[in-house]
Order: sequence, then structure tokens, then C-alpha cells
Amino acid sequence: MIKSKAFVDTTILTNRLIKFRGEKKEAKDALAKYEITELPVYAIKEFKAGPLDYVKYLYNKLLETESIGLTIIALTNNFRQKNKQATSLKLIGELLEEVKLSRTNNSLKAKYGRLADEESISYDSVKLETKLLTYKSWKKRRSVTTTVVQPLSCYQETAPFEEKNGLLSLKPNKCKTDNCCLIEKLREKRFDVTKLKVAIGNLPEALKTKPENVKRQKILREINSKPSIKISDSDCRNLGDAVFALFCPENADILTTNIKDHKPLANALGKTAISPEQVLSQIPEK
Ligand SMILES: [Zn+2]
Repeated sequence: MIKSKAFVDTTILTNRLIKFRGEKKEAKDALAKYEITELPVYAIKEFKAGPLDYVKYLYNKLLETESIGLTIIALTNNFRQKNKQATSLKLIGELLEEVKLSRTNNSLKAKYGRLADEESISYDSVKLETKLLTYKSWKKRRSVTTTVVQPLSCYQETAPFEEKNGLLSLKPNKCKTDNCCLIEKLREKRFDVTKLKVAIGNLPEALKTKPENVKRQKILREINSKPSIKISDSDCRNLGDAVFALFCPENADILTTNIKDHKPLANALGKTAISPEQVLSQIPEK
């Protein structure tokens, strides 16, 4: 049985705000099954520094290269950031599909004149859609759930803006100080912090050695062993999924698409992590 409250993680916020079709609908439907849905500000911070940054990156590439083809080539050349590459490529495909759908009413042809070639219509509309997506998703971030909880005093929610050269910027997207405000709250939870550290240590080898788990375990260990430790912005980000396990209220489910990473952490603290798919299969559509 699902609980009446959901503690919403970054994957759900992302699917709701910047994904299309199936993923978006599933997130929306799953959220609707809960009486109360809580979004911690930490998820907003993660969303802006990660997924929304990919949308911004795509817009800036489109602006720089002035072409969809060259943007795709530039993205595939970006080998060092596989995640960003895959996400941006998928997004450009989604946006091209969206543009195709909206073109049935021919309004774009009217706007750009009959002589406008297909490629430049697509380029202009994809560029515009990417920019709108950046602004609109940010604007909607606080209305995805019934409430936004757990503000972070070291993080300011600043809207995306256009720089003088037309490029989009998401700054600031980090903690304001070199000692994140989470440290105080984490010190109060030292037993839970230890449980999570142990839980990561007990993961199967393939999961335990994932870079994010190695970093997460290190910072969890240091929180308890170094009394004067400071949490930097990258430590704050590396805590990631652990933050949701630690700060999810007892009477809530962690709602996430990333069950594999969340479940062992949530379970270590006697909490539950559940995916939209699982929520919807428990309560069939009427
Ligand atoms: Zn912080």
C-alpha cells in the first residue's frame, strides 16, 4: 500500500518539467495518487544544476552553431560528459517531434513565409522551444507538488536569465557559502548517517564501486568522524540520494524513478522508495 504522502525526488520533478509524453504523464499521474506531495528545495537545487543545465546547454549550443545538425555534431563530440550528451540528444529529438506536432496548424509556415525552408523553420522553433522550456520549467517548479519543504538557507532560487551575448545562464546554482547549511541538520542525524554509510558498504560490488556511491560514502563517513568538517557545494551534490533518505518524513514514500539507487538507502532507515510505475500498478486507473 502506498502512504498518503510522497516525498518527491529530482527524477520526478525532472520528468514532470522537462520530459515529454510517457515519462511526463507517468510522473503526473503518480503524483495525483497522493493526498500530499512534498518537494524538498534540495530537489530544486539538483534539478537546476543537472537536468535544467542540460536544457540550457542545448539552447546555448543551438545559438552558437546556428544549426540543428551542427548542434548534434557538437553534442556527440562532447565525450567527457556522457550524461549531458545523452540527455541533450534525447531532448533535441523530443523537441523536433513537438515542433512537428504543432506544425499541423501551419502557423509556423504563416509566420516564416511560404518560402522558408523546413530546416530553418525547425531550427527557429526548436531554439525557441528550448528557451521556453528553460524558463517555463523553472517557473513551474514549485507547483508540481502540493507543497515545497525544507528550505536551504545557503541556496537561493534565482531564475534563469539571458546574458548580454544572448546565452542563457543558470547562475548561481551552487551553495552560497563553502560550508553548506546541510551540515547542521546532518549532525543531528548522526545515527542515520552511520546507517547509510553501512548500507552503501553492503551494496553489491558493482553498485558500491560506482563513483557516486564512493563519494557519497566518503562524505557520510567524514560527517561523523571529523567534528569540524565543512560541506562544500560538491559534497552537498555528492550526498544526492542520501539526502532524500535522511530527510524523507517517516509517514511518506520517496517517489522516484531511480528505485535501484534509492531503495537500499531508504530501506536502511526503515523508509520506502517507490516508482511511479509501482504507484500506478497499485491503484489502477478508473
Ligand atoms: Zn548548501
